[in-house]
This record gives sequence, structure tokens and C-alpha cells, in this order.
Amino acid sequence: MQQICLECGMSVNETMDYCPKCDNALNLQHDGSTITVDIAHQGERVSEALRKMQSEIDSARKGVAMCIRLVVGSGLIRDEVLLALRDLKFRGDIKNFESESFNAGAVLVRLK
Ligand SMILES: [Zn+2]
Repeated sequence: MQQICLECGMSVNETMDYCPKCDNALNLQHDGSTITVDIAHQGERVSEALRKMQSEIDSARKGVAMCIRLVVGSGLIRDEVLLALRDLKFRGDIKNFESESFNAGAVLVRLK
């Protein structure tokens, strides 16, 4: 699979960490966009929602979005997601996360 260096436009193999042309750190590049994913409103159990969250974050980190917005509802899934995100942040897989002040049922995760 190829990815495009957002700095210089070169097509680069997605396994590379740095652009061979302009030396930019590819895994830090983002286009400022936010992806929204609902992980809690199709009758998911907590374990399913957490798996969904992990795979969405994994694939989003390979892309160019800056943030992923997780719609988590207001119940147990939300609590467990916040715990899991704390862990991901500790490991450095995500930069930061916060519950949206105007909508507690959604969490904004800063990927890059
Ligand atoms: Zn480049």
C-alpha cells in the first residue's frame, strides 16, 4: 500500500516512517480532519464496542485525519472507553482525548 506525503506530495510505501524525499515524519502528518465513528448505538456489548474502538483507532492512525470522534452514548460503554483511552494515551498510541463539553456522549481523540 502507498501513502502520499502531505508535505511534498511524493507517493511513499506506507511501511516507511519518514519521507525519502523531504524527510518529513510521515506518521505525524495530518490534514486537520476529524473522523466520526459511532461505536455504541447498534446494540454493541461493551467488549464489542471496545474492539470496534481499537480497530477504528488503528486504521485512523494509518490515515491522515488529526482526530477521531467516538460516539459512545452515556452508559457503561462510555466509562470503559474512557478507561481504555487512558491506557492508549499512556502508551503513546494517541496524543490526547476529551469528552465533548457540549455532548458528553462523544469523545474526541487526538491522534496526531
Ligand atoms: Zn515528503
